[in-house]
Amino acid sequence: MQITITKTTAPKEKPASDILGFGQYFTDHMFMMDYSAEQGWHNARIVPFGPLAIHPACTALHYGSEIFEGLKAYRRADGVVQMFRPMENIRRMNNSAERLCLPTIPEEEALEVLTAFVQFEQDWTPSAPGTSLYLRPFMFGSDETLGVHAVHNAQFIIIASPVGSYYKEGINPVRIMIEDEDVRAVRGGTGEAKCGGNYAASNRAGQRAEEKGYSQVLWLDGVERKYIEEVGAMNVMFKIAGRIVTPKLSGSILPGITRKSCIEVLRQQGYTVEERLLSIDELSQAMADGTLEEAWGCGTAAVISPIGELCYKGVKYPVNNGEIGAVTQYLYDTLTGIQWGRVEDTFGWTHPLESK
Ligand SMILES: *Cc1c(COP(=O)(O)O)cnc(C)c1O
Repeated sequence: MQITITKTTAPKEKPASDILGFGQYFTDHMFMMDYSAEQGWHNARIVPFGPLAIHPACTALHYGSEIFEGLKAYRRADGVVQMFRPMENIRRMNNSAERLCLPTIPEEEALEVLTAFVQFEQDWTPSAPGTSLYLRPFMFGSDETLGVHAVHNAQFIIIASPVGSYYKEGINPVRIMIEDEDVRAVRGGTGEAKCGGNYAASNRAGQRAEEKGYSQVLWLDGVERKYIEEVGAMNVMFKIAGRIVTPKLSGSILPGITRKSCIEVLRQQGYTVEERLLSIDELSQAMADGTLEEAWGCGTAAVISPIGELCYKGVKYPVNNGEIGAVTQYLYDTLTGIQWGRVEDTFGWTHPLESK
């Protein structure tokens, strides 16, 4: 695929690694590509990072035709920059696109433009411990009409943001509130697509939890409000009486790549991992009788997030005395080890880039 490059005439200074935070700074360029029903994907280009011109009737602004992905590029000790399982993100983006009637991008072409863009911006990948270059591919419907129909025009964009260590002093257990009012998604809805609308629907519960001093909510299924689904924007796993249990992908759960990687690492280590329905009653019972040994969330941003306390209907249940459990720590060390090149990648998950 031909990519036109327009270099910025005003390169920015790169921020110091201790002030990065998450998604606050952006690199000098962005990748863009347009879709129309007549021409398909065309006009692939790398251009200076900056505001978009959007028609006020743009489909995405009115009807929420927007999907996104999130993955990271990591700088290894030898200086090489590598992405983690990028093809998984591309496949998931195409699944999200199909659900929202947005155009898909042929897998090989999507990987080609993503790789070309990250290669072009790779100097922006920080090297301090725990830092990385967060990549945000996204797509939205850009028809210039208020008529409601499947999308005929779309834009695909990739932006990149150097991000800091999610946990400044190692990983810390978080407090989670089990949400019994709002729901995130229902089967047949858009829960398994990574789309902005799911986040808009989650904000109210997240805000209420934060006001009560919790960092995230744990979502129950939207129909019976009985089965555990996800925590915040992460998948969730539990160690109950020696077994690892995680909600099965039922249609309303986002199929996380960190989730998939955890399952593969754990099975390789000989753990039993059960992907099944897990009811709040079963979890309450395990919390009450002490068989809930560990709980953690998993997602690209934090990788592994230990859960130190669960609150359900006002009752607080400490998990593993509020400490990080052995399996949680093992997963964090293994996944981040592979991502930063400290642990040998026997799975073939990393995608190193050519140095400039
Ligand atoms: C992105 C996301 C996840 C985690 O997926 P990863 O591929 O592991 O980053 C989990 N749940 C929701 C709702 C998400 O949007």
